[in-house]
Amino acid sequence: MPPANDPNPTYDTIFRHQPSPLFNTKRKAIPPLSIRMASSLSSLNPNNISFTTAQFSPVPPWTLKSPTILFNLTTNIKANTTPEVFQALYNELKHDYPHHQEIFTDGSKSLHKVSAAAVFLNSKLTFSTNLPTMSSIFTAELTAIKLAVFNIHKTNHKLHILFSDSKSALQSLSHKNLSNPITQDILLKYNDLYNHHYNIIFCWIPSHVGIKDNTEADKLARVTSISSTQVIPIPPSDALPTLRNYIRTKWQANLDSFPNNKLYKIFPKLQHLPPLHHSYSRKDTKKVILNRLLIGHTHLTHCYLLNKEQPPNCNYCKTLLTVEHILTSCSAYKNIREKHYSNSQLPHILTNISKHLIFNYLSEIIFF
Ligand SMILES: [Zn+2]
Repeated sequence: MPPANDPNPTYDTIFRHQPSPLFNTKRKAIPPLSIRMASSLSSLNPNNISFTTAQFSPVPPWTLKSPTILFNLTTNIKANTTPEVFQALYNELKHDYPHHQEIFTDGSKSLHKVSAAAVFLNSKLTFSTNLPTMSSIFTAELTAIKLAVFNIHKTNHKLHILFSDSKSALQSLSHKNLSNPITQDILLKYNDLYNHHYNIIFCWIPSHVGIKDNTEADKLARVTSISSTQVIPIPPSDALPTLRNYIRTKWQANLDSFPNNKLYKIFPKLQHLPPLHHSYSRKDTKKVILNRLLIGHTHLTHCYLLNKEQPPNCNYCKTLLTVEHILTSCSAYKNIREKHYSNSQLPHILTNISKHLIFNYLSEIIFF
């Protein structure tokens, strides 16, 4: 998953594992992390997506020329502004830079496709590329800007004004966020272009408000795009949502494989368990009891394990003595229980019923 030549010393250990027959024969031996992760890695990254991280800037960051970025149009809140106002503001802006040629960039993300495009309106040149589906929209927008600055020399024109509808991508440039590899590439290229007498102004533009040039650029992108088939490396942070989802799915599958687990009956879906207190302390008796009721293990129902005895039965009902039995169905305590609560579903009792009622019931039957 990380880029090749990653200097991290754990890289080889984790990502370049050698299958060892030793662990096939010794089933009880715990294989190293690399072997245990191999199947997860291949199912997580079936297309061998390549990742890129920011390297040290070859140009001292403080000498990098700061790009001019205009957020003039953001001062108008989109919801309250009519398309005509935006069109007028856009024309005004263009009037301030009469010799600059317009570039429009756009990144898009749907369920199965992430793409980036840059359109040079005057020279009718368009460039686009597809990105791995796990890429964020932010990466797509930055890649679109990168496509523009890296192809700008093909226009034979030195003055450009680049319009992007991604405020966060432009802010990343404005804050010189060199830790993002794509932002770094753009800033280094911009610096290089600046030294070769190019002048590029960046400007935020609202999307889908009917600005004529923007609509025309969208049309051009669809019809005449020169699409790159090159595999675009993306920042590792873009993989995090997929990674989290994968871990959650695996964890849930693991939980589902133990349907008789006592906690599973109460919380069949992964979630935070509010009654389980992080400040777990033996001094707080009620919290301890509550946590033990939730996991279904109490001294009364499970001390047989320590004493190497048979599991206990309820003296009255002659069925297995469990937390569920005591809280929901023991006929000996039916009347007392109904005084405090009437529900007979364990998940409901432990998650929705006031804890005071449960403790009052347990206290009355001298459970603790
Ligand atoms: Zn009973």
